[in-house]
Amino acid sequence: MSPDSVTMDKIVSLCKRRGFVFPSSEIYGGLGSSYDYGHYGVLLKNNVKAQWWRSMLQERDDVVALDSAIIQHPRTWEASGHLAGFTDPLIDCRTCKLRFRADHIDQSACGRKPSKHPGETPDCDLTEARDFNLMFETSVGPVREQGSTVYLRPETAQGIFLNFKNYLQFSRKKPPFGIAQIGKSFRNEITPGNFIFRTREFEQMEMEFFVPPPEAARWHEHWLTERMNWYTRLGIRPDHLRLRAHDADELSHYSSATSDVEYLYPIGWSELEGIANRGNFDLTQHAEYSGQKLEYVDTASGERYVPHVIEPAAGADRAMLAFLVDAYDEDEIEGESRTVLRLHPVLAPVKVAVLPLVRKDGQPELATEIYRDLRDRVQAEYDEGGAIGRRYRRQDEIGTPWAVTIDHQSLEDRTVTLRDRDSLDQVRIAIDELGEEIERRLREAWHSPKLED
Ligand code: ATP
Repeated sequence: MSPDSVTMDKIVSLCKRRGFVFPSSEIYGGLGSSYDYGHYGVLLKNNVKAQWWRSMLQERDDVVALDSAIIQHPRTWEASGHLAGFTDPLIDCRTCKLRFRADHIDQSACGRKPSKHPGETPDCDLTEARDFNLMFETSVGPVREQGSTVYLRPETAQGIFLNFKNYLQFSRKKPPFGIAQIGKSFRNEITPGNFIFRTREFEQMEMEFFVPPPEAARWHEHWLTERMNWYTRLGIRPDHLRLRAHDADELSHYSSATSDVEYLYPIGWSELEGIANRGNFDLTQHAEYSGQKLEYVDTASGERYVPHVIEPAAGADRAMLAFLVDAYDEDEIEGESRTVLRLHPVLAPVKVAVLPLVRKDGQPELATEIYRDLRDRVQAEYDEGGAIGRRYRRQDEIGTPWAVTIDHQSLEDRTVTLRDRDSLDQVRIAIDELGEEIERRLREAWHSPKLED
């Protein structure tokens, strides 16, 4: 099939059918745009996050990790500008009582006539746009009183700035260096939607890279290249990925330059990650609001300055969606259609499935022994139920790159067949070599077989 015939509906239905992602609170009728991640979704998203950590921490020596609190001192959001300015323009329709984002009107449907945009029918009665703050407010302590109002963080970045001073002291790092964090963020989006693309609760993977001011532009370029390479190395087709620089009127209040990494989702080109040059805005603001000095002092030269910050800010859920969309494929094997997720093996929720051909003659026992050995090395799955073709199909649908089949010959000569999800090649291999072979394949460079279509 043409790779671009993937639709959001097909992804949503596969995710539900195979336990990647479920609508949240379903037994109560669901809660709009809230999702729960099931077994394979947890494994897939964990692999996405693990690859991000790997590229930030393990493969470099100038980035360190942080996990900061979700609820922070409320002054944080005054200093960051979120309290005053983290707003979207909101429009109400007095007729259908729906709410729309003024800048998304051309992507929204009228509540009474969904084929029209809001404002297009004579019955529509839209209000003027007004600013709506996206932060979720709550209170701490047993008494709801003035002064106890706090916010669920709308981005993870601020927790990093609040800890800048700690990191200078303990990490023995000096600019250029970065602090990376993965965690939940919350935004009361006016129009969430498109599955896990835009939700009110989501996970961000953000890194603030502190640099001497004259080096900011160069490091911005560096991170644009690094982040694009991360996606393509993990199998995203390069022609479905692009960088788009923000126009001057699009830039956030703190940014002197931002480029979005965009992916060609079924809804069209949309932001996957933003990479901003934040200048010294955040550290200067927090220094002013906290009364603390947030600057770097070189003990040798005595030089002091407020570092500038380059921020690659990605969404774990949006990244997972992009990997799913890019991997989704349908083909035919021996006249039977199959759905297959052509995920990069390091991202695949399960690396290897172990399948006895029949449920007798000692095959399940040998298969269990092999499974126990393999699961010490990688995420593996054992399945003995149903026809072998059906079991392959089940694994293809969740993107398992390899399947090991145990047959009568296996009991005689301790060899098994190793099947490849994409090429469908089956090779006979000694049981003793299986683990090494799978680990070797996992280390190999990989590109999407859809590129060869
Ligand atoms: P958008 O323009 O789509 O609202 P944004 O520019 O506000 O996104 P950033 O503040 O730059 O987003 O956040 C960084 C990343 O966090 C985004 O690129 C995206 O991957 C993710 N993200 C932001 N908002 C959401 C959301 N509501 N749901 C899921 N992921 C999100």
